Amino acid sequence: MAVASITDLPVTRGYSGPDQPDDDLLRACVHCGMCLPSCPTYRMTGQEASSPRGRLWMMKSVADGTLDLLDPAFDEQMYQCLNCRACEAVCPSGVHYGPLVEAARAQLEQHRPRPVWQRAAREILIGWLFGEANRMRGLVAATRAYQRSGLQALVRRAGLARMVGMADLEEMLPPVAARSLVPGQERWRASVATDRVMLFNTCMMGTVFADVNRAAGRVMARNGCDVDVPAGQQCCGALQVHAGMLGPARDLARRNIDAFEAADPDGTAPIVLTAAGCGAALKEYGFLLKDDPGYAARAERFSARVRDVTEWLASTGIVAPDRPYPVTVTYQEPCHLAHAQRLTAEPRQVLAAIPGLRLIEMAESSLCCGSAGIYNIIRRPMANDLGDRKAAHAARTGAEVVVTANPGCAMQLRTSLGRAGSPQRIMHIVEVLDAAYGDEPESAAPLASGTPGAMPGAVV
Ligand code: SF4
Ligand code: SF4
Repeated sequence: MAVASITDLPVTRGYSGPDQPDDDLLRACVHCGMCLPSCPTYRMTGQEASSPRGRLWMMKSVADGTLDLLDPAFDEQMYQCLNCRACEAVCPSGVHYGPLVEAARAQLEQHRPRPVWQRAAREILIGWLFGEANRMRGLVAATRAYQRSGLQALVRRAGLARMVGMADLEEMLPPVAARSLVPGQERWRASVATDRVMLFNTCMMGTVFADVNRAAGRVMARNGCDVDVPAGQQCCGALQVHAGMLGPARDLARRNIDAFEAADPDGTAPIVLTAAGCGAALKEYGFLLKDDPGYAARAERFSARVRDVTEWLASTGIVAPDRPYPVTVTYQEPCHLAHAQRLTAEPRQVLAAIPGLRLIEMAESSLCCGSAGIYNIIRRPMANDLGDRKAAHAARTGAEVVVTANPGCAMQLRTSLGRAGSPQRIMHIVEVLDAAYGDEPESAAPLASGTPGAMPGAVV
């Protein structure tokens, strides 16, 4: 496909319309360069333009009118960025990079001419499919039938996916859970409850990896807590925010606030979840809805109650399993846990509470694995390079299990470890703790093995 040259496009000086990058935030960058070593795209390319400092300079240049908003180089850099927030975590000037790149993408979405089919594909995939939790459960049910009917094995044997250029995508599909977790239909009760939490289900954890959420329910009940999954909750909106579709993201945020207020009118129960990327998005509802007079204060209160499951466990004191669970693990840090939520000690505290478990740290544990929402679907070369780098580090530890805390990372690790021929299994941290308690049902199995095609169909 021909790449648009700058001369083909209308000249668009500066930002206009809603959702512009905040000028004060942009000008907070003092160009020190301390963020460069932590940026995965800079590490892979060595180019200033592919660094946080380079991207911030471009965003500021657009604001100043010295760079056109529709310059293809600007577009390329705003979307080459993984929005991993590693730069934000190390910036001494406190540059809040995430909302800046998200606003820059929102500007591109508003002003960039796109082919009709591209707009339609985005609207269908990101807007329509993720706009209603029932639709996602329907798609996952169809995937489950595809995998369990033998059709998937047939497609793979016949090389059909390769013939239509979808082999990589097909291989990324993890085995889906036998049953989705439908909000309002399952709950967990402690023998003596001292607390109550609301589980935020999330699109992927409530469907493909529903048994991870069930493990979280059991684990929290073991830790003295009643767990409910409020009905009416929807996708968190992270995917829409990262794609610059802030309007649909705000709609989802409002619906989630309504659902959780209805389930807990006092607004006192922590909102706990097992997906790092979604947790980061929920913690930023206050920012997302700051200009909505009907929701701004409610969004702030909602965000203040959100806890990653490892954060919640570490804050309540973890009930240690009463017998050893001898396993060696290494920990891959999800970007949105380590950088966006700044939770690095808590996941390790959970693992340290398990007697017999040995944690072997991998190199570059918090460098992005290349998953980044749908980045590993739409930008495969960079995503694959980062995934291979991560898989090599994980394999080098010799650990039996690679532990993580985000569905996107689990899927990316699965394909990367598979490419590397590694037999390492992948588990969510709460699955490890659940297994150590001995509470998981017979049918439960780890998130995935690193060898696509070699794992049982009925995992999580
Ligand atoms: S974003 Fe922060 S760390 Fe990076 S160059 Fe700017 S001020 Fe320095
Ligand atoms: S968000 Fe990640 S990929 Fe993007 S500039 Fe920052 S460190 Fe680099």
